[in-house]
Amino acid sequence: MKRPRFGSRSRVSRDVSQLSWLAVGLAESGSKLEDAFWESRLALLVEQLLADGDEEELTTTLDRLYDSHPQAHDELADMVESRAESIRVSHQGQDYDVLLVAVPVLAWSRFGIPAPSIPADTLGALKAQLCGHVLASQARVALVDFLFSPDQLPRSYTDTHRLTQDLGRCALAGQDMALDTREMPETNRFLSDTRYLLAAIAVPRNTPLFYWHESHESEGSREVARQQWRQQGGGALEPLLAGCAFEPLLPDAYHAACRQADKDSRPYSLKASVAFLQTALGITPDQLKVAIGPFHDQRLEEYRLGFSLRERPETVIHGVVWALLGDEDENTDAVGEMSALLRECGITEIVAHDHRFPLEFCDDCGAPLYPNGEGELMHTDMPEEPASHAPRVLH
Ligand SMILES: [Zn+2]
Repeated sequence: MKRPRFGSRSRVSRDVSQLSWLAVGLAESGSKLEDAFWESRLALLVEQLLADGDEEELTTTLDRLYDSHPQAHDELADMVESRAESIRVSHQGQDYDVLLVAVPVLAWSRFGIPAPSIPADTLGALKAQLCGHVLASQARVALVDFLFSPDQLPRSYTDTHRLTQDLGRCALAGQDMALDTREMPETNRFLSDTRYLLAAIAVPRNTPLFYWHESHESEGSREVARQQWRQQGGGALEPLLAGCAFEPLLPDAYHAACRQADKDSRPYSLKASVAFLQTALGITPDQLKVAIGPFHDQRLEEYRLGFSLRERPETVIHGVVWALLGDEDENTDAVGEMSALLRECGITEIVAHDHRFPLEFCDDCGAPLYPNGEGELMHTDMPEEPASHAPRVLH
């Protein structure tokens, strides 16, 4: 049956070319008035595609614009993210704005960071702290009863859109969402990682969403919310993160919060690594040496940091990947930022290699290889911890 396939292909290309046209129009617009013209039409089409589950049209257009018109790509990406994470709904004769919110927590532990279901009393406590310190007073909120790891979050725009709708309905009904975790992928274990609470907030249309929308008196009200949530929200998170050091970040709209967490997790994991090596080996930071190298595939993909003991500099005992984010490239001063952080932690011997390393991984276990001070690529080889029964990878 060829006809339906041809039919659907021409429909795909029609949506893709329409999306491109609107996004380019918005990118090249010369006035707020013209912006509004393009935006309203682009929003309608994006909402339609999200509602129909047409992920492919969205990602195909984004891919094409990425090469042909970067500014139009950014306009479309902003629109798709915003429509995936926010909707308008009517409930009992009143219009509501609904926003999907992520609540990131940076954590590290020698013994694995849990990704647990959340018991009702903890969920209640978290909700009370969110309402008390972060959300606007009129906001209704629903939480998912699960602490997500990054690889368990909704992957696609259409999945995100569906969650916004379902969780938004829960918020208006005054319920939370019980997640069926049987299908949940097993999460990777890292020394340091991010966990997320997911919430939807519903407010009467065009009214404040967050605490910092409500007060024009105190200029730093976002900062106040951050501090309060860190303290009070942190207390409510404690039962979920036993055996971990952790730091709650400011809750925000889903995509913005996830992006900020990716950024903040880089310095956090560097500091966590130094703290881990100190306690695991009973050493001081000045006994460590760190080599930083740029790792390339087609282009610069990431930096990797190899940690060694100064008395045995050829062996890499621990490694950290510093991923590039957004439009970062070799012109971003990541090496300067990493070096400053390491010095702040008390590490004095830092080698920054200039030459490009290949993006290599261990053939046996898939772990990244890290540079030592001589610029050799090494598998990490952690010395035996006297009192530890932690399994080691041997090959
Ligand atoms: Zn290996």
